[in-house]
Amino acid sequence: MKGRVAVLKAYGGEFELREYPVPEVEAGAILVRLSRAGVCGSDLHIWRGEMKEIYGASPQDLTFGHEMCGRVDKLGAGVTTDSMGQPLREGDRVTYLYFFPCGRCPVCLHDEMGSCPRKARPNRVAGTPPYFNNAYGEYYYLRPGHFVFKIPDEISDDIATPTNCALSQVLYGLRRAGLRAGHAVVIQGAGGLGINAVAVARDMGADKIIVIDRLPERLELARAFGADHTLSATELPTADRRVEAVKELTGGFGADVVADLVGYPEVIPEGLRMLRGAAATSRWAASRPATSSATTPPPSSAATRGSWPPPTTPRGPSSSRSLSFGATSRDFPSSGSSPTCFPSSASPKASSRRTGCSARARRTRRSRARPSRCEPQRPWNWGRRFSAKALTPSW
Ligand SMILES: [Zn+2]
Ligand SMILES: [Zn+2]
Repeated sequence: MKGRVAVLKAYGGEFELREYPVPEVEAGAILVRLSRAGVCGSDLHIWRGEMKEIYGASPQDLTFGHEMCGRVDKLGAGVTTDSMGQPLREGDRVTYLYFFPCGRCPVCLHDEMGSCPRKARPNRVAGTPPYFNNAYGEYYYLRPGHFVFKIPDEISDDIATPTNCALSQVLYGLRRAGLRAGHAVVIQGAGGLGINAVAVARDMGADKIIVIDRLPERLELARAFGADHTLSATELPTADRRVEAVKELTGGFGADVVADLVGYPEVIPEGLRMLRGAAATSRWAASRPATSSATTPPPSSAATRGSWPPPTTPRGPSSSRSLSFGATSRDFPSSGSSPTCFPSSASPKASSRRTGCSARARRTRRSRARPSRCEPQRPWNWGRRFSAKALTPSW
């Protein structure tokens, strides 16, 4: 039996579909037949060639994608339950972590598995056994030592797909940042992470949620997910004016938590200025920076906690909490949709459709120094109510 994998040959180009043999399942492993995959912001960075320091000057038969869900196709010997102890059978819908912490080092023992320096990630070069190592394919080979979670019936595939990344990241970050009931929180950036953060902050009891972005449709989406106030970075074009607006909305005191979910280092000092003066109770949650230059931590004059250094991946328990959140929260306005999903059945058309993105991206690069915000419009199916433009923070 064979299955297909989407392979990227050139940055900004189209995917090529290749067939590989579906592997035998070793003891302790699970073969998953994928039903959905998500397009994360980092996937777009990879596709655009903005992470060449990791993936090389040109992609070497690159396979990627990490947000996904599917059905158990085959259970390896000894796997009888998911990580929460629920019975697991072939045909069950599952989601899982896409990295594999060692579970033995001091970092893991401190319950910081997302930062485990020895954690393994599947190989990204196409043709490397067991072949199905990433989300953009028909199968995923979940190696032994995994964390896997059965998806409750009430959670759709669209909602379940990004729970292992976007939703887990913001759950983890806001918890680590110490967000509590009654707090005022500023969310910088209303992309996929920012929108999830709005819903999570609402669910955690935040009293005032202020969202900043440049694009009006994203701010509208943020309001639909529970934002109390939205600030347009276009109408407030300077950091001074945005800081002033946040202070005004918080009675002159500033926010208890600021979450940088933009991914560009220039917003960090601005966010610090938005924090309440009492540094001891102020918290900072940072998203993964989009550029390698963004490795400088916030100044020590402010209390910094939570996600700095940014976790490359959330810890295991966050994924199970994400599923619980997805099942119980009323803060997702559309129960059937998620900001970052497309069905795996769309992938066979990947190499036969032009996205129109490359030419637009080149034009944009000539006119602006900033990386292009161009998104591939097809073959992704973005869900019923979310436009592609609403996915990536726009600063
Ligand atoms: Zn992701
Ligand atoms: Zn470890």
